Amino acid sequence: MTTTEAVAVPDLAELAGISRQLEHQPATEVIRWAHEQFGDDLVLASSFQDCVLIDLAMRVSNDIEVVFLDTQYHFAETLWYVEQVRNRYDLNLRVLEPETHADDRWLDDPDGCCKFRKVEPLLRALEGKAAWMTGLRRSETAQRASAPIVSWDLGRSLVKVNPIATWSDLDITGYTQDRALPEHPLRDRGYASIGCWPCTRPVHDGEDPRAGRWAGLDKVECGLHD
Ligand code: SF4
Repeated sequence: MTTTEAVAVPDLAELAGISRQLEHQPATEVIRWAHEQFGDDLVLASSFQDCVLIDLAMRVSNDIEVVFLDTQYHFAETLWYVEQVRNRYDLNLRVLEPETHADDRWLDDPDGCCKFRKVEPLLRALEGKAAWMTGLRRSETAQRASAPIVSWDLGRSLVKVNPIATWSDLDITGYTQDRALPEHPLRDRGYASIGCWPCTRPVHDGEDPRAGRWAGLDKVECGLHD
């Protein structure tokens, strides 16, 4: 498996202090800080469930590299949406595919499937980079509830930036409406959280938005945010 190049470990106390300072700053200020710190060595990883983080980032700099992990099991609607967003922003988009053939691993080994189709391609995307930026939000799952704005990604040896960590679902909806952003076509078909088609179902009113991901399994994360 590919590994990211060694990046000098920063002063972790200093990084935690920066994170606290950015806690109450607008997301664009967090992105501006990251862009100023890391320049071309900053990558934005997007699942293209929506384009809120991309819109925020493009307001700071339209040359920030955006990475999409094409697992080969995305909904056709997701691939269509990627093209809509790519064209809207003239994105500096890099699409990573897994180094494996189509298989049925998701049926009996979803962790292994995510490892080959998400975790390993992300490592390739981050090779030689100093920082990555994600749309992770604290309100999404209990595991994400204490996610900092800025932290040291120990497993990948680079800085991780979560500019919208403090945002609620309502914040996302409000920003999407205010900015008239294009929405993923599955949103109005009950898909509150959108991943690969074998592992995603719509949710019912009142259900947890993430309940449609790996439904029926004891799995809530794909490994990207471990
Ligand atoms: S979400 Fe499902 S199909 Fe997609 S990589 Fe993970 S296990 Fe495989």
